Amino acid sequence: MKNQVSNTFRFISFIILFYAFSQVYCNRNLNINEDLDLIIGERSNIPATWVGSKDVDRNIPILILAGHADSQGFAGAGTPGEAVDKFGLNPMHSEISDELFWNLKLQESIVKLGKKKGLDIRSYDPGIRNIDDANDPRTNWSVGRKFVKNGGYALEIHFDAYGKYGVGSGLIPPFFGTPNKIDESIARTFGRFPVLFRGGLGASRRQIRILEIGKLEGLLEKNLRNLKTRKRTIKFIANEIVQAFLNGII
Ligand SMILES: [Zn+2]
Repeated sequence: MKNQVSNTFRFISFIILFYAFSQVYCNRNLNINEDLDLIIGERSNIPATWVGSKDVDRNIPILILAGHADSQGFAGAGTPGEAVDKFGLNPMHSEISDELFWNLKLQESIVKLGKKKGLDIRSYDPGIRNIDDANDPRTNWSVGRKFVKNGGYALEIHFDAYGKYGVGSGLIPPFFGTPNKIDESIARTFGRFPVLFRGGLGASRRQIRILEIGKLEGLLEKNLRNLKTRKRTIKFIANEIVQAFLNGII
């Protein structure tokens, strides 16, 4: 009898502990979601009605491109960011825009983390920072276009312009064809732009997805520039992107 009582007691304690742990776990996940919004800032609020429902092969090859890696020195160099443009701080690098500086850092982090998590993922960097012709075979868009034609998924990452010049975070789906479950998963995390955004951008017309991480301003830019929070911020965003890929292919 005594044994039975203690067994029942143990069982009830187990249930209470299990419940407490599950609550902590759920709340922790909730906090992470809140953190993402806090870290990347506002999302695009342009109405977008597309839904990505097409299944994706779980072994799909993934290519990550850093936006503006081949167009420095043109009008398309990417945003200098609020810190440089509005507050007159020094650029992160003298020869490239701050946006490209962060695009490259994040690109590296996404690929590193993605490989660790078992994704078939790689990056491409043209190395040459000024390629006049968008159709030159060495540009992001030419390499991305070919990659998609061969059955892969190409994503070009960007940080959006600050203040009234930018829109916010979100995924721009391909101009032609049906958005898939990876598109949907990334859009659920970062928000979504309409298919026809800016008349169908050059990348979108080549089936390359564009992800605007967030506006290069305020807390996001401060966290990137601050050496104490830089690594953590980049890793956090990279993890959100890799997790979105994983959720989209399972
Ligand atoms: Zn950009």
